[in-house]
Amino acid sequence: MTPSLEASAPSTPFDLLIRGGTVIDPSANGSVRADVGVVDGRIAAVAPDLAGKATEVVDAGGAYVVPGLVDFHVHVYWGATVWGLEADKIGAAGGTTAFLDTGSAGAISLAGLRRYVIEPASTRIRALVNICTAGLVTTLGELRDPRYLDIDGTVRAIDANRDIAPGVKIRYSENIVGAGAQASAALDAAVEAAEQAGVWLMVHIGYTPEPIPDVLARLRPGDVITHSYSPLAGGLVDLKARGVLPAVSAARAAGIEFDIGHGKSSFGWETAQTALDAGFPPDFVSSDLHRGCVHGPAFSLPNVMTKFWLLGMPLEEIVARCTIAPARKLGLDAGTLQVGAEADIAVLAVEEGPVTLVDCTGVERTWDRELRAAHTFRAGVRLDPKVLGPSEELPVELSSQPMTRDADA
Ligand SMILES: [Zn+2]
Repeated sequence: MTPSLEASAPSTPFDLLIRGGTVIDPSANGSVRADVGVVDGRIAAVAPDLAGKATEVVDAGGAYVVPGLVDFHVHVYWGATVWGLEADKIGAAGGTTAFLDTGSAGAISLAGLRRYVIEPASTRIRALVNICTAGLVTTLGELRDPRYLDIDGTVRAIDANRDIAPGVKIRYSENIVGAGAQASAALDAAVEAAEQAGVWLMVHIGYTPEPIPDVLARLRPGDVITHSYSPLAGGLVDLKARGVLPAVSAARAAGIEFDIGHGKSSFGWETAQTALDAGFPPDFVSSDLHRGCVHGPAFSLPNVMTKFWLLGMPLEEIVARCTIAPARKLGLDAGTLQVGAEADIAVLAVEEGPVTLVDCTGVERTWDRELRAAHTFRAGVRLDPKVLGPSEELPVELSSQPMTRDADA
């Protein structure tokens, strides 16, 4: 008979032992008071009162122990785009061990994102390819000149990078793609590139250049809308009718998925509360962290999670939308604390309030608690914010760029 891990614990030396926290593992359902033991970069045991020696012991009393967060919408092409942050640094600060960069690179700049950002990073990064061949270099609308649309290049870039590039991105706002036939042709190009490459498409909305039902009608099952709770015009939520547009519910039933992408302009208390009250939660809770929102109003993924907690979503459901849901969408072996999994772990402390939380319209709400990343481990190795430091500021100020009405990326 093979002894259980718990029974053999006294003789099991752990590299890392996280003690006394409340473990939320959405791959196993529910939350439970337990210790987590790590050996050789993998989860070795999850059980109450694990005994045994450990090289490092972390006291997680009063905190939540969750899988390393998977942020489904960020911008981490530091040094090559005005938006870019440094992935490992925001990972260490925010409990995030995997990221989806949403279109910072286009066909001509994906190779650089891969070589200079994704390959050297400790955190795991996947990247959507922008249908604009240059990607997001400045804050100028990248598709105002339709010659930047690049179906063939996008397909070739994805084909050469299947392991890191799961899809296509378009920022579908009037100030970015223009209006009328020019805008419509840009969305057509993005759908066509995704179709030819056999991948899904993420569509950013807000000041959307055509009615949302017309946009949704052209998307395919598995395609994703981001900025779903945007308070800007051309969004999904109808405040007067106290719900989402009928076409939005129909799109969900047809397999379209919905991401948050808080960012600088794309999260409002009222739109969020209206959608949640109407039974329309997001599929993914993501930050859209970039240079223009990391110092507020988004701050970090735990800050965004806290806002959903305040709005009444159970913490277990929020954690699932920041871990197992995006991990599955990205085909990542992540978002779980099952024995044998890579030990990507976030210890989220609960800071007692009162704390002030702000949305993208400047409306503040005060609450009695806030989630903060106390410890972040990637494959059992600590991402230490004290060692890594804050993301290095670029010499270019966002405000010195010609700003657009919709400042989210
Ligand atoms: Zn973005």
